[in-house]
Amino acid sequence: MESSGLKRIFYQKLRDYVYHIPGENPSLFTLCGTNCFVVGRGNNRVMIEAGDYPERNQLFLENFNRFLTDFSHVSIEKIFITHGHYDHFGGLFDVLNTLTNRQKASKYTEPEIYKKLDGNQFENEVFQRYPTLTGKVRDLKHNDTFKLDDEFDLKALYTPGHATDHFSILMSPINKEDYKENLLFSGDIILGTPSTSVQELSSYMETLYSLRNEDFSHICLPHSLDSLPESIIVDGKVKLEQYIQYREERDRNIMACFKDDDKITKDDLYNVIYGSRGLIGGLQLAAINNLELHLAKLVKDKQLMKVEGKDEYYRNNHKI
Ligand SMILES: [Zn+2]
Repeated sequence: MESSGLKRIFYQKLRDYVYHIPGENPSLFTLCGTNCFVVGRGNNRVMIEAGDYPERNQLFLENFNRFLTDFSHVSIEKIFITHGHYDHFGGLFDVLNTLTNRQKASKYTEPEIYKKLDGNQFENEVFQRYPTLTGKVRDLKHNDTFKLDDEFDLKALYTPGHATDHFSILMSPINKEDYKENLLFSGDIILGTPSTSVQELSSYMETLYSLRNEDFSHICLPHSLDSLPESIIVDGKVKLEQYIQYREERDRNIMACFKDDDKITKDDLYNVIYGSRGLIGGLQLAAINNLELHLAKLVKDKQLMKVEGKDEYYRNNHKI
């Protein structure tokens, strides 16, 4: 199918054992949309991410159906959802319906579904909309490991910061002679842009630092700037360090504003750090939110002190 001069990608092979199914829900926040993945080589495959709510998933379901038609011998034995945001979890009900409708004549077993369950508002929204999902989603625990066809280990890593229920999935070949790459399906802690939205910065940084100790060579991004394979699977350690440096640099920028015993307000800091950029609207709000996240972390780390009840900050070694 041709549209706008570009060939539509229903799905694409990124590796022998990694297929990408575009979520088709592009936006300022989801970039080219949610990248959903089907991994494995044999008859049993695992899906990672389930796409968006029905308002934004019709093209994704067409893609998924096309994949299932072309790979009719394949069954999806598990589905991992990295976190409860609607663009990852909102399409699960439709994905399950698609699988059921296609295979109801044969001996169909519904996939096992895994996600950390913590009752957050995003997760609740999906369960309220689809009550039948409630009993189907199994709680994921840190370091839970699953075998896929005796070829791959899939290890679940608790990676909070972007969301409280966030997990990443580390896929490693069991026989290292077969494949050299260990892939981290990062979920929204790392995107195709220089940073991601963060809910709580201290736990987010702990997540990034902890990933330095995990054995992965590449990261499969859930949101990329485009659908080129090299935009979706990127050098893992380089990308991780870029994300750490980005946040550490922001901390240093803020701390550099504090000279002597000056008290500084958030507005002062905004003007120094972001003022020259002339941000407006949503971008301005995002910058303010970012600044607040960093200030809260610097106070928690005892690098800054916040004046009780006021929007004023001092260096922690300030003498009153
Ligand atoms: Zn998210």
